[in-house]
This record gives sequence, structure tokens and C-alpha cells, in this order.
Amino acid sequence: MSGVEVQTGTGRKRVRAKMGVILAAGGFEWNPRMKRMYLSAPSENSAGCTTNTGDGVSMGTGVGAATSLMDEAWWFTLILKPGEKQGWLVTSERTLPGSIMVDQKGMRFADEAMNYVDLTRAMLAFNPTTYALENVPAYLIFDSRYLSKYPVAGEGKEKAVRWLEKGESLAALATRLGIDSSNFVATVAEFNRNAQSGTDPLFHRGESAYDRHWGDPSAPNPTLGALNEPPFYGVRILAGDIGTKGGVATDGSGRAIDPEGRPIPGLFAVGNNAASVMDPGYAGSGATLGPCVTFGYLAGRNCALGN
Ligand SMILES: Cc1cc2nc3c(=O)[nH]c(=O)nc-3n(C[C@H](O)[C@H](O)[C@H](O)COP(=O)(O)OP(=O)(O)OC[C@H]3O[C@@H](n4cnc5c(N)ncnc54)[C@H](O)[C@@H]3O)c2cc1C
Repeated sequence: MSGVEVQTGTGRKRVRAKMGVILAAGGFEWNPRMKRMYLSAPSENSAGCTTNTGDGVSMGTGVGAATSLMDEAWWFTLILKPGEKQGWLVTSERTLPGSIMVDQKGMRFADEAMNYVDLTRAMLAFNPTTYALENVPAYLIFDSRYLSKYPVAGEGKEKAVRWLEKGESLAALATRLGIDSSNFVATVAEFNRNAQSGTDPLFHRGESAYDRHWGDPSAPNPTLGALNEPPFYGVRILAGDIGTKGGVATDGSGRAIDPEGRPIPGLFAVGNNAASVMDPGYAGSGATLGPCVTFGYLAGRNCALGN
């Protein structure tokens, strides 16, 4: 590896690298062809950097690097506001008291407050009988009390009502959103009964420290509250991502490796340009940036030392 060829405002240039090349051009979240080709399920939108089109991954494979984890993404629940290209991250909205998520059948399908990777994966569960993704589309639902108190996708009530669906009753809201109305009313009734005593026997929302992290510590139950103050509001939740997770396979020093596991001299890959050390899972806050910093340091150091 002797360098890279780059496109500049004044044409192509060759940059010679004495010690090595570190690929750090992010994932392929804005390359629809690669997403279709590699991801295990369709991602409906990405909040990741729009210039991440997988170039760094292709550069790596172009000189013989292996790839790994190409079917995985940093899956995320997103709200896409009208006229916007990128979705908003949905985190506290599905955790705070007075909100739930349901699928089109009007059923809850997971602990809404769980980490974003696994919750989105639950949305994308494949049903072998219907040959459909079990919980896509899904909806976030809350009542008036919730909207008066908490923001949704970065907006307070005045702005958010412009793009939220509204129903004077739960059944009316379900009809507007195309959700099975009788299931939905029963789902909310059961959720409300348990929420008042601060429990969620079905999915255990609020029982883990992670769940409560995005909750409201001033509420009687930080993550659970009844939806009983009309009108009710809802919005479609997209099964999306904040970046892809697969990329150039590397060793523990950030060195790119070939399909036989041999380091490619002078080639390194870090961040979402490399296959994540997290495998398909999610370890907690910083699961993406932590390894970026760690392997960025290791790759830089090893490159500088000529390792
Ligand atoms: C809204 C949001 C919130 C997040 N919050 C957290 C958080 O709280 N904690 C956490 O751990 N992680 C978080 N993440 C994830 C984290 O930001 C990413 O995992 C991380 O930024 C990936 O770093 P990276 O350097 O690999 O890629 P990026 O930061 O995406 O940078 C890649 C860069 O490469 C450039 N590039 C692409 N192609 C080329 C090319 N051909 N030539 C030159 N340059 C190119 C791109 O323009 C971009 O600037 C969040 C992500 C998003 C979108």
C-alpha cells in the first residue's frame, strides 16, 4: 500500500503514504444499492452522515481486504417529519410515562424503553408464516398529558401537532393510523391498568437501569404512565439506523485483514468503515463512539510505528 488517489476541487491527486493508510470513511448507510445487497433487513431511513456511501469499504475490498458483519446496522427507531430527508432519533419518547409503541395489529411487541438496536431488531422480526416483517410499520402513541409535558422529536406541542396524527378517542386514532382498533383499545386498557401500579408484566419496561436512564425521575414511575387524557396522538416509527455496522475486517490492532486473516501491510480501518467489535449486539451508551476512539488510537499508533 503506497497511498491513495483523491478527488479534489482541482482534479485528481495521488497522495503517497510513507507509513500506511487508515480507512475512516464511515459506513454505507447512504448507499441504497449496498444496503439492499448486504443488510439482513431493509432499513427505512438513516440518521447517519449523508456522505457515507461505503467508499471506504469498497477501497478496502479493492485491495483484498475481507469484510464482516455486512448484514448488520446500528438499527434505530426514527421519526421522519414531513419534508425532511433524515429521521429523528426516538429514545426518550418511547421511554417516558404515557407513551407506548404498537404494530399495525394494535399490539405491543417489546419493551419500548430497551436499547435502540434491539428494539428496532424486534420491529424487523421476520414472520415465516406471512413472509412479512412482523412489526413494520409500528407507531408511537401518547396522550395529551404526555404531549403537554414532554417534547417529541425535538419539538414541543405547538409545533409537533402539525405532523402528529390526532384522535379524540383511542379508537378514532387507531382508525386514522390504520391500526386494528379493537386490539389497540384492549392493549392500551391492559397497559394502563399495569402502568398505574408501575409494572409491565408483558415486557418489563422500566425494570433495567438502561430503561430508566431515558425516563422521568420526577414521575411516580419513571417509564410508565397511563394513556387516559384525550385527545390522543400517534406517529409512524421507522425501522432505520444511525449507520451501518459491517465493513472491512480488522485484527485487534485495527489492521485490515484478508480473507485468510493475514494483515494487509500498511492498511488500517476504523469506525464504521470497519466491522464493529460489538458484533450484532449493543453494549450500552458509547457502543459506537467508544470503539471508534479505541481502534482509532490503536490504528494510528500501529501505523506510525510501522506495525
Ligand atoms: C444523530 C446521531 C447520534 C449519535 N449518538 C451517539 C451516541 O450518543 N453515542 C455513540 O457512541 N454513538 C452515537 N452515534 C453514532 C456515532 O456518531 C457514529 O457511530 C460515529 O460517528 C461513526 O464514526 P465514523 O468516523 O466511523 O463515521 P462518521 O462520523 O460518519 O464519519 C465518516 C466521515 O467520512 C466521510 N466520507 C465518506 N466517504 C468519503 C470519501 N469517499 N472521501 C472522503 N470522506 C468520506 C464522511 O463525509 C464523514 O465525514 C450517533 C449517530 C447519530 C447519527
